[in-house]
Amino acid sequence: MLTDIEIAQNCKMQPITEVAAKAGLSADDLELYGKYKAKLGRETWEKIQDKPDGKLVLVTAINPTPAGEGKTTTTVGLGQAMAQLGQNAVIALREPSLGPVFGIKGGAAGGGYAQVVPMEDINLHFTGDMHAITAANNLLCAMLDNHLQQGNTLGIDSRRVLFSRVLDMNDRALRNITIGLGGKVNGVPREDHFMITVASEVMAILCLANDLADLKKRLGNILVAYTYAGEPVYARDLKADGAMAALLKDAIKPNLVQTLEGTPCLMHGGPFANIAHGCNSVQATKMALKLGDIAITEAGFGADLGAEKFLDIKCRAAGLTPSCVVLVATVRALKYNGGVAKPDLNQPNVDALAKGIVNLDAHIENIRKFGLPVVVAINAFPTDTAEEMAFIEQHCQEMGVRVALSEVFAKGGEGGKALAQQVLDVLAEDQSDYHPIYELDQPLTDKIRAIATTIYGAKDVNILPAAAKELANIEAMGYGSLPICMAKTQYSLSDDASLLGRPTDFTITVRTARLSAGAGFVVCETGAIMTMPGLPKKPAAENIDVEEDGKIIGLF
Ligand code: ADP
Ligand code: MG
Repeated sequence: MLTDIEIAQNCKMQPITEVAAKAGLSADDLELYGKYKAKLGRETWEKIQDKPDGKLVLVTAINPTPAGEGKTTTTVGLGQAMAQLGQNAVIALREPSLGPVFGIKGGAAGGGYAQVVPMEDINLHFTGDMHAITAANNLLCAMLDNHLQQGNTLGIDSRRVLFSRVLDMNDRALRNITIGLGGKVNGVPREDHFMITVASEVMAILCLANDLADLKKRLGNILVAYTYAGEPVYARDLKADGAMAALLKDAIKPNLVQTLEGTPCLMHGGPFANIAHGCNSVQATKMALKLGDIAITEAGFGADLGAEKFLDIKCRAAGLTPSCVVLVATVRALKYNGGVAKPDLNQPNVDALAKGIVNLDAHIENIRKFGLPVVVAINAFPTDTAEEMAFIEQHCQEMGVRVALSEVFAKGGEGGKALAQQVLDVLAEDQSDYHPIYELDQPLTDKIRAIATTIYGAKDVNILPAAAKELANIEAMGYGSLPICMAKTQYSLSDDASLLGRPTDFTITVRTARLSAGAGFVVCETGAIMTMPGLPKKPAAENIDVEEDGKIIGLF
């Protein structure tokens, strides 16, 4: 089989104007970035905003192996399959971050015959959104440090700065740094940190903002530091919000690209799924709902993190009502959850599968708790045996849940027709009774408890003193009615990556709490969360190159 980049480069892309036409848009509605990429601006939104919404389908997954279980691949393939069945489907996805492309091999725009193209552009600079977010974030940092330098009239306590610099590169050496060295003219020395751009609150804000005005207001609400008197300092106090929004005026517009089969795909924004909510922008989802009869989107990590945040944070904030959830399961991840070590996952093992399938059960039950119908998609890998796949299908049938084998990686849209048909049946027959898992007016600790016990299956929650103090502080500052954004390992339903399957009798430990006032959620960390990745011993960058004609090679 060809590599992802070979498949992508063999694809004869359609001009983006033709792709747009499928979604009812004319060339006039597009801000072109070359032949195959375009942004959809405010005027386009105003033109389509009164159209009725299509149906919203969320793609999520069971707890994954470190390789990922194919949510993006399934999302793209499902969109392609819908189009093959004559449906007007529009996909909405996150845009990839540049840094990880040079780290460990692995695509972020689907795989095999279910990809979004032009894949090199998408994985590298794309339309510059990441750079704009980096610049807006770092402008705020520069203005903060300049404020300290120029007399510090706000009385900012340089030991209590909460906001840090970002860069879209895996660069571990920048995780903890000292700035302002070199004497009086070179700034006020203090400890600082770099995160990767997608971890910036600016990214989360861009993804949750309704429009430019909302974006500016949210940017102003970023909590930057505390004063010596313990008072909060917001970005608006530094008068940074206007210039930050100016830097983001184009980044806020959703990007239109296409799948290998010419299906329209809006790719926009890409926040982390731990310290942020992990979904593409609200604007892209809303546009997909206006442009398509069916909008298909993805949420990061497993359903305990991604779907929970999609349903409790994004859908609630944006007034979205999903109609169906596709739960991606793989034979390898279920075996992994059944205790098989990573190197042995390619060996047939129905016993381990039978042991690990409790993980699938937990996620099916959880999605139903949100009042949503679910379809299990078995993402087929070449190493899966017929016996293993049949086992999962039979198990789902016994549980009374719809299931389909998805072969979109190997066959493109053709391989996703069975899944698409199941989703269409849900949309035609099943009722969505979507409701979040907790109410916003509950105390913060009750909301944390609701997620931990109802979704993770925890017996109890242990909120450590530092976190409890900060939660009380956040409530006292008037932010008690924000939703919770849990930062937790994606590998387990618990906060311990080694507890696989469906752990019981465990306690969730909340170590820190942090206010993202601009994004509009309270981040609760259950363990150390890596916000600036490093490169591996042999970075993927060593194999990436560009030929004389500009053709990129070695990218996945
Ligand atoms: P996720 O969105 O869940 O992280 P992706 O769709 O990005 O997962 O897939 C993760 C990796 O696995 C990608 O490199 C992709 O090409 C590969 N992959 C996904 N599905 C399959 C499959 N059915 N067979 C082989 N490789 C696959
Ligand atoms: Mg993905």
